[in-house]
Amino acid sequence: MTILPDANLYIDGKIRPATGGKTYDVLGPWTGEVVTKAADATAADVEEAIVAARRAFDHTDWATNHAKRYELVKKLRDLIKANNARMVEIARHEAGAAIGAVFAAHVNNAVDGMDALIDLFPEVKWEEDRGRKSAMGGKYVSDRTVVYEAIGVAAAITPWNVPLYVNLGKVIAGLLAGCTMILKPAPNTPSAAAILGELALEAGFPAGVFNVVLSEDPAMAGEMLTKDPRVDLITFTGSTLVGKKIMENGAQTLKRVFLELGGKSANIILDDAPNFAMAVASSMVVFHAGQGCAITTRVLIPRSRYAEACAILEQAYAGFADKWGNFEQPTSIMGPVISKKQMERVMSYIELGQKEGARLLAGGHARPDKGGGYFIEPTCFVDVTNDMRIAQEEIFGPVLVVIPYEDDEDAIRIANDTTYGLSGMVQGSPERAAHIAKRLRTGSVSVNGGMCIAGDLPFGGFKGSGVGREWGREGIEEFLESKVIAVGVPA
Ligand code: NAD
Repeated sequence: MTILPDANLYIDGKIRPATGGKTYDVLGPWTGEVVTKAADATAADVEEAIVAARRAFDHTDWATNHAKRYELVKKLRDLIKANNARMVEIARHEAGAAIGAVFAAHVNNAVDGMDALIDLFPEVKWEEDRGRKSAMGGKYVSDRTVVYEAIGVAAAITPWNVPLYVNLGKVIAGLLAGCTMILKPAPNTPSAAAILGELALEAGFPAGVFNVVLSEDPAMAGEMLTKDPRVDLITFTGSTLVGKKIMENGAQTLKRVFLELGGKSANIILDDAPNFAMAVASSMVVFHAGQGCAITTRVLIPRSRYAEACAILEQAYAGFADKWGNFEQPTSIMGPVISKKQMERVMSYIELGQKEGARLLAGGHARPDKGGGYFIEPTCFVDVTNDMRIAQEEIFGPVLVVIPYEDDEDAIRIANDTTYGLSGMVQGSPERAAHIAKRLRTGSVSVNGGMCIAGDLPFGGFKGSGVGREWGREGIEEFLESKVIAVGVPA
């Protein structure tokens, strides 16, 4: 018996196994043992999901009946909330969330974000009167309206790091906009998607409006969805490499492609930070073992206080030594990384950092003594220069790099000297910090602890961090097309 119930497909209003009945084992990050069995969709299953979503969009009132849709999405929300305990178990066993992280990004923030999207629905503009205008010297007069309508069939391709959060950000926004949806989660985290199918069925969603396909092969289903002309939009969160591939594949049918890719965000601590020691100590990359795209993984320290900052960090990491990697510890925010493959990837970066000449201040080792899963010590590199690969590439593990800077201009230069631009932090005297925040080329910035990521705010990246915005009103509008209707009026 596995810990979690089997994860099944949800296609055309039915919860079912894959055609042919094939399943695959999902290994839990804490133990390396099977936590659930997931249906392994065939190409025929993906095809059926596309057909169902297309039919539901073209031949039902899903896209046009705003009131009915709103009620059904609210019903789904209520069921998700009523199943909170199951969501928590899934996040812990499947995504490897520590208890303290579950009650933040994994479940609670996901549910708060879903509430925020639903609260924003009444503000969505479906039609706007753009007034009467005459042209050609008054020969033609028109009454013009801009109508906003759902794009069509949208496919959401999601990652394993905070799966419920990403799934809800895309699915709830797309459904509210009136799209029909196909959700394709990462192979490691099928249950966080399968449960949404189950609850949509219970909520009474019309067949085909929402579909979930699971697959052990990371690329098969996603490639089908990206290339198929019956799919109008792809919303993707994951790695830059796959994001580029999706854009390339989507170009064949000129699909709307929205990408939320990684980050290498900077945390700039100024010499006049209100609480310098606290700012430095809390820059540790430990939340969910660093597996978050918006985590600030480069901390920038003024050269004048660099030695002091290194001493603070050394102490902070030593104090954290027994506060991670424990499944039962209620306050812990750090568990394992998702998989053996990810562990090897992170460890190869730790090796690379040392080869590049950075100094290991803390951590740096795998910790098999913590359990059969994939544990890596909280790790901190100092004496890092921004041109090193460990300062440029997204590691997606518990690894912080510490970079000294000379003055404010230098800090801004270093922060922006990256192919990414997702998030950032500045901590210092308010006016100076706010000025620096405006100069950062990123989609969100926190100044002195401000929460820049919330369900009612747009989230997304500049530069290589992606295309488009999700969450907030903008996140719903991403699933809409505008259409101009001009009615001729006798001149
Ligand atoms: P990935 O980009 O490989 O996978 C993300 C999603 O895309 C999954 O659902 C996967 O099955 C799907 N996919 C894979 N190949 C595809 C293709 N050719 N066409 C369509 N869909 C495809 O990410 P990963 O393997 O889960 O992780 C690799 C790295 O990505 C991580 O180490 C990390 O750096 C980064 N990552 C970033 C985020 C983020 O939020 N920005 C999240 C997860 C992973």
